[in-house]
Amino acid sequence: MAKPFVTRFAPSPTGLLHLGHAFSALLAAKAAKENQGHFLLRIEDIDIMRCRQEFEDAIFEDLTWLGLSWEIPTRRQSDQLADYKSAIDTLTKKNLLYPCFCTRKEIQIEIQKSSTAPHGPDGFLYPGTCRNLAKTKAAEKVANGVPYALRLNVEQALHSLSSPLTFLEKGEKIIAQPRGLGDVVVARKDVMTSYHLAVVVDDHLQKISHVIRGKDLYHTTHIHHLLQALLGLETPRYHHHPLLVGADGIRFAKRDKSLTLKSLRENGVTLKEVFDLIKVHGGNLDTELRF
Ligand code: GLU
Repeated sequence: MAKPFVTRFAPSPTGLLHLGHAFSALLAAKAAKENQGHFLLRIEDIDIMRCRQEFEDAIFEDLTWLGLSWEIPTRRQSDQLADYKSAIDTLTKKNLLYPCFCTRKEIQIEIQKSSTAPHGPDGFLYPGTCRNLAKTKAAEKVANGVPYALRLNVEQALHSLSSPLTFLEKGEKIIAQPRGLGDVVVARKDVMTSYHLAVVVDDHLQKISHVIRGKDLYHTTHIHHLLQALLGLETPRYHHHPLLVGADGIRFAKRDKSLTLKSLRENGVTLKEVFDLIKVHGGNLDTELRF
């Protein structure tokens, strides 16, 4: 029997949702419906400094206003920290993680000192300062209570795998390039997970078969696929959709206060007008999604 089609919308309550989020959520819900599948919602709220209850409340109000419904219970990442801890333990046992004591400032200084610091899609990559720290030195720092994040040693991780890494994007086989983001953080200093690790664990636990999300996250799929391979998890099929753009041709972001769903709602904009606005800003809800 074919596996059920399960997809999700996974916003972070770090700001109000905008028209671009509406496009993403509507596309995913539509795909679930067309495939007699399931549409899930996940609240990605591990960033305790930036997440706010009022933004989480607005997510539920906005999505309901868009006419969407999702299966209950809604997964909230901050309620599931034990699941992430167990994935961290697996990677630790494989000897693929190292503690990183660097502050942002120290990383910046290290990058400035180097004329060949590698660059990724999100800026400069971690220069690897703590990767070669002697184990005894690192243990001493941990024992002295110096705060640390855990980073994935990507080279070592790739060495530990025997088969090549490929995933499906819009039905096309893509060779994963997990080096593109450097030694990513898998557990932050303040919480025992990171965006990358939590997404991979959640997609597995929620049995997500198809991931529909914005193109801005395409480059993260490469590292997500590496984590899936290391943790022995199945890889969903991916479709990264184009991002909506404003009149200036620049993509929407949470920091833009206009065109938030809350402001549209409060200004009496109708759903038909929302669909028209999505179209005007470059989103086609009738596109046939390929997997
Ligand atoms: N929480 C992420 C965001 O709001 C989306 C994660 C995902 O779809 O994988 O950008």
